Amino acid sequence: MTGFVRKDLIGLQGLSADEIGYVLDVADQFRFVNLRSIKKVPTLRGKSVVHLFLEPSTRTRTSFDIAAKRLSADTFSISGGSSSTTKGETLLDTARNLAAMHPDIIVLRHARAGAPGLLSDALPNTSIINAGDGRHEHPTQALLDMLTIRRALGGLKGRTVTIVGDITHSRVARSNIWGLRTMGAKVRVCGPRTLIPPGIEELGVEVHDNLQDGIRKADVVMMLRIQKERLSRGGHFFPTSREYSRMFGLNREKLRRWARKDVLIMHPGPINRGVELEPEVADGEWSVILDQVENGVAVRMAVMYLVLGGEGAARREGRG
Ligand code: ASP
Repeated sequence: MTGFVRKDLIGLQGLSADEIGYVLDVADQFRFVNLRSIKKVPTLRGKSVVHLFLEPSTRTRTSFDIAAKRLSADTFSISGGSSSTTKGETLLDTARNLAAMHPDIIVLRHARAGAPGLLSDALPNTSIINAGDGRHEHPTQALLDMLTIRRALGGLKGRTVTIVGDITHSRVARSNIWGLRTMGAKVRVCGPRTLIPPGIEELGVEVHDNLQDGIRKADVVMMLRIQKERLSRGGHFFPTSREYSRMFGLNREKLRRWARKDVLIMHPGPINRGVELEPEVADGEWSVILDQVENGVAVRMAVMYLVLGGEGAARREGRG
C-alpha cells in the first residue's frame, strides 16, 4: 500500500519505506509553497493546531507554527512556563482539557519518552504529532534530514550516513536510524563509547569510536549536539568539551584529510560551535544545515496535511 493513512505521527519505528517515501514526496510538493511570494494555501482552512511545547525549542516550534499557518490552520501555542503543568496538572489532564476544545492536531514536545503515545491513546479524535519526546524519537527531524539527503544525492538507498556524537541521549539519532535503515541507507554511529548505547548494533548500524574510521567514504556526516541538559548529573561521559572536540569535533583539516570531497555535513541544531563543529565547517561548502531548516517547514506541512487525511479528506470537506 502506498500513502500514509495514520491518525498520528509518533515515531519512524514501524513505518514502512512506502509510507516514509510518500511523506517525502508530499513534502517535496509543499516546498514550492514556501518559495512563492504568497506563501499560503487553503489546505487546512478551518482546522486548529495546538503547539504544546513542554520542553524548550526554537527551531522546531517556529517551523511547526509557520507550517500550520501556511496551510491556513488556526494555531495556538502553549509552552512549559505558561502551562498549568507548572502548577502540577498532569499531561493527560492538560491534554483532555485541550481536547475538549476540539483541536484537530496537538503537536507535542515533552521531556518524557512515550508522552505522545500516551496522548494518542487518550485522545482518539485528535491527531498527535511528536515534536521530540525525551531520548526516544523526533520523527519530523529525521524526515527533514532524509528529504535533505534525497534532494542533494538523488536518493537514500545504498548511501552511507554517519551519525557522530552523543547517540545515547539523541532522539534525532534514533529516529534517523529507524528511518534511514528502512529506506535502505547504511548507517554508522560514531562517538565516545560512553555515549553509544550498548547493543545498538542490533538496529543494524555499524559502530565506530574513532572519527577518522567513522567518516571514511561516508556520503553524509550528521553531527549531533552534546546534550548537556540530558547528561545525568555527576555522570562523566568525556573529560572536557575541549577533549571531546579534539576527538570528535569536525574542522576543515579533518574533513580534508579523512572525508569524501563531496561529503554532506548536517546538524539538527542548535550547534555548539567550537565543540562538535567549527564555524568553517558549519558555514562551509559541505554544509546543508540551512537546507535542513528550509525542508523542515515543508515536511511539517506534509505531516499535518497527511494526519488529517490528505487529499481525500480535503476534497470531502471542500478544502482541496
Ligand atoms: N533540536 C533537536 C532536538 O530537539 C536536537 C538537539 O536539541 O540537539 O532533539
